[in-house]
Amino acid sequence: MQTFGSPLEKVQLPGCDAPIFMKRDDLLHPIASGNKWRKLKYLIEDLREQGFQELATFGGAYSNHMIATACAGASLGIKTHCFVRGHEPMDSHYLGLAKMHGMNIIQVNRTDYKDKQGLFDAHFDAAKVYFVDEGGKSEKAWRGVSEIINEIELPAYSLVHASATGTTAKGLSLGIERSGKPIDLHSVAVLKNKEEQEAYLLNAMTTLHFNYTFDGYAKTTAELLDFCTEFTSNTGILIDPIYTGKALFALRDLRNAEAFDPKKPVVFLHTGGMLGVLSKSMMDKIVPPKN
Ligand SMILES: *Cc1c(COP(=O)(O)O)cnc(C)c1O
Repeated sequence: MQTFGSPLEKVQLPGCDAPIFMKRDDLLHPIASGNKWRKLKYLIEDLREQGFQELATFGGAYSNHMIATACAGASLGIKTHCFVRGHEPMDSHYLGLAKMHGMNIIQVNRTDYKDKQGLFDAHFDAAKVYFVDEGGKSEKAWRGVSEIINEIELPAYSLVHASATGTTAKGLSLGIERSGKPIDLHSVAVLKNKEEQEAYLLNAMTTLHFNYTFDGYAKTTAELLDFCTEFTSNTGILIDPIYTGKALFALRDLRNAEAFDPKKPVVFLHTGGMLGVLSKSMMDKIVPPKN
């Protein structure tokens, strides 16, 4: 499981004069989100050190964490299980891909899903199966994410990324603290969970932005989709409108509003999330670029 060494690439944003740098964590794995991969690194290490050969985790039917866990399990010979929230028809390509990577999917109703430890205890023996929380949320996940900072060799910069639970932001913040470098972190919320994220990131060194949720998780507008299409058609780098598209849109807006220190280059962390755009419902909304 390779969780290190993604390149830093100079790219041009539509509607922005100076180029930015993109930390290409989307290249860490062809389908698993880069930050999910980073979050799993030390969880998996701990699991193996303790001699476990199985793990169980939690997610929605469109969970990037579920996919990353399934992929990691398949490549390392670890049997994976995932409690999936809701009883909607299982037509998500995420679920198919998880199963293809050998993951055992256990669908549970939304009420039961709330008691994760209870679910785990009812199905598994904690001496045999390793518990991984939803989204990989844990201190070990912070540690994995913090390593991104060591890989960026610029002396000072502004760093922008998409934020949902705040785990990635927390890890980046820790990495920044440890590096001692003057790095300004900007975490762009992609869903409307202001209170939770603020509470989780209380002591983190980041500025949270809540003006770019586009009204909620996985909600999009024509303007956002056009921005994603224009960026991808200009650069050949795919972004998804659920996470990275919103955060990159925010980056352009904030930069044009001169919200970043002009003396520092701007780095965007591409966290991956390809499966979010690679669905028929999303693709049906894409229109070709105007130019
Ligand atoms: C999960 C995810 C995020 C958000 O990560 P958090 O640690 O939950 O804040 C960002 N980008 C992508 C592509 C993701 O899959």
